[in-house]
Amino acid sequence: MQTRTRNNTTREVADFLKGLQKAAVTTHTGADGDAIGSAVALVYLLRSLGAEAVFCHSEEVPNYLRWLLPNEPFKECPPDHDLLVVDTSRADRVGVPHEGVHPVRLNLDHHEDNPLYGEYNLVDPKAAASAQIVAAIYAEVGVPLEKQTAEAIYVGVATDTGGFRFRNVSPEAHELVAELLRTGVVPAEVNERINRTGTLAQLNIVGVSMARAELHGEALISIVDKDDYERTGATELDSKESIDRLRSVAGVELVVHLREIEGGTKASLRSESVDVGEIARVFGGGGHRLAAGYTTTKPPQEAKEELVSVLKDVVDLGDGTGGAG
Ligand code: AMP
Ligand code: MN
Ligand code: MN
Repeated sequence: MQTRTRNNTTREVADFLKGLQKAAVTTHTGADGDAIGSAVALVYLLRSLGAEAVFCHSEEVPNYLRWLLPNEPFKECPPDHDLLVVDTSRADRVGVPHEGVHPVRLNLDHHEDNPLYGEYNLVDPKAAASAQIVAAIYAEVGVPLEKQTAEAIYVGVATDTGGFRFRNVSPEAHELVAELLRTGVVPAEVNERINRTGTLAQLNIVGVSMARAELHGEALISIVDKDDYERTGATELDSKESIDRLRSVAGVELVVHLREIEGGTKASLRSESVDVGEIARVFGGGGHRLAAGYTTTKPPQEAKEELVSVLKDVVDLGDGTGGAG
């Protein structure tokens, strides 16, 4: 076993993967498109290399991503499998129980705050998505991309870049996408499956989020709580996508979505300029510089006040009264 806390090269990780016989791939809790896309692409790569590989996760995979799965997810890492983790910034966010049972053999990610918690680490903050890093391993080992793999990688890159709009978009990401399209990926078909399978309740809770948006100087904050879920018939997860719809207001430097969860509040932070990862870490969370999140045990209104007390040193909060204007 090699020293931890060292970042490995794509070559080293490719050689490590070639030596595996049985592997279980998982990703972070609260899985998103890149989480599932990069995990699925890694499972297919391992199978191409002759390993027995499965996807595992203790939580339900969101409906809009289920079509990508290579197998019905194992709730735990099978005992004789090596555990590989993708898109997960910290060991405590890994989607299956592992501490003391399954050492993380590979940590593949693109979060800049990743502390390299794996035996092997492949962490590249310049990658637009973890799926882009998995694609680089395919290229390294010379396994050609097939359509179902290419679709998984496409989902990772397309969702983590907000549909190719965010600051993590690069020439490399577009070059990769060109290659994916050549293998047969049809963006309109993928869009149909990931963005057009919602429910009315989901649309309604997002509508509530948007109606609740308040401007505090340069910060826009929106809260949804249990009453809103009850009224719309939505779940807290249904409100998650609100964060991207709140970014359209001119002059806003920082957008916050606070949603009530069991036992507290989940915060999502987005910006074009402010390091929101640093803000999230104040509350024990984390993420990227321009997209981050955390959970707190405080109810939403208190969570908002606590957050505002930190935000006031980072952005201009105006007169601090908030309001719809
Ligand atoms: P979200 O707002 O949940 O979409 O998350 C945005 C980014 O922040 C993602 O890259 C997550 O991995 C990261 N993130 C969200 N919640 C947490 C948390 N509690 N701890 C660490 N990172 C988080
Ligand atoms: Mn993710
Ligand atoms: Mn990601």
